[in-house]
Amino acid sequence: MTTTPSGCRWCGVDQREHMQRWTPPSKGGPGWHKWTQPTPQQTKTRMIARRTRRNP
Ligand SMILES: [Zn+2]
Repeated sequence: MTTTPSGCRWCGVDQREHMQRWTPPSKGGPGWHKWTQPTPQQTKTRMIARRTRRNP
């Protein structure tokens, strides 16, 4: 699964295809949830990770 910078805070799924998802508390999730805006720190980290994958 590719994590987009705007993916869900809990599971990384894009808002358009998210709907209801389960992310267990053991993985830091809230259980059943709807798409949640990622924190600025997550967005930054994901953008850096994507750039790193593209230019290893
Ligand atoms: Zn989610």
